[in-house]
Amino acid sequence: MALRLSTEILSLRTRHPFVIARGGNSDYRTVLVRITDEDGTEGWGEAAATRFYGETLETVQAVLPEYGALLGDDPWQLEAIEARLERAIRRNAAARAAISAALHDLVGKRAGVPVWKLWGLDPAAAPRSTFTIGMDTPERVRLKVEEAGEYPILKIKLGGPDDLGMLRAIRGATDRELRVDANCGWTAVQAIRMLPVLEEFGVTVLEQPVPPEDHEGLAQIRRRASIPLIADESCVTSADIPRLAGIVDGINIKLAKCGSLREAMRMIAIARAHGLMVMVGCMIESSLGISAAAQVTPLVDIVDLDGAALLSNDPFAGASIAGGQVALSHAPGLGVQRR
Ligand code: MG
Repeated sequence: MALRLSTEILSLRTRHPFVIARGGNSDYRTVLVRITDEDGTEGWGEAAATRFYGETLETVQAVLPEYGALLGDDPWQLEAIEARLERAIRRNAAARAAISAALHDLVGKRAGVPVWKLWGLDPAAAPRSTFTIGMDTPERVRLKVEEAGEYPILKIKLGGPDDLGMLRAIRGATDRELRVDANCGWTAVQAIRMLPVLEEFGVTVLEQPVPPEDHEGLAQIRRRASIPLIADESCVTSADIPRLAGIVDGINIKLAKCGSLREAMRMIAIARAHGLMVMVGCMIESSLGISAAAQVTPLVDIVDLDGAALLSNDPFAGASIAGGQVALSHAPGLGVQRR
């Protein structure tokens, strides 16, 4: 009997408006994907659409039933199913990532083991996760830092109207490790001008300072930077990695960009072959989506899986980053339960 796919919209709310260089919001909607096999075993995944990568709630809802009709009847055929879906309707990575997560959850449950265990990984090898402070007024930044009390590494969003004000506000409030993500908000000239400022404020990692296609800019920045430069928006799938080798120090993998857990594993292997650092990140999504991404954390250098930790109404419990420590569930599949 063919695998059945059903969906449900999840309404998520962040504790504070989450503002980055492209704008921000408090209300997010993602799609829960449920895949059911003939015995009634369910696998779950979450699609967190991002307009920047060409997806919306509506495109996800439109494409999921089309992908659902192509699942076949054997969830263990993970490689074949994922290839078939991508060939049939390209792009739509967040929708495909939700299906990939649901299939891995399903086979893990059928085998009675967590996905990380199926892959032979050690959860204790996962690095600590950052917690993100979005752009805000100095007063509210101080409040957010206080709320982020338990997280040892903070990531701040720059590329806005008052980067220096953000850096001063955060450094005035904490001496914790600080990483910066400019979300394409600078030109190469601006980024190079910011490098000594970032150094002065003790920033340890710089993520995506310039627009995705500005590879020359990335190369110029990297030549002058004393901290690792990570490509996020410039690195969508494994096919982007060879071109980035030599012009950045690492890549940021997100399931909603690359479209599947298996593609994430390919990206890790290819990045390593090119001598690159590997980071795993997320969108604003619940603990369901975070639990899928968290399965690869034992293989990476930098973890930024705070999507669910930023929420005030997470509908799921699974992998967590409480206190910055990635804690993978020992329950089968993705180890996710409804709260
Ligand atoms: Mg980023």
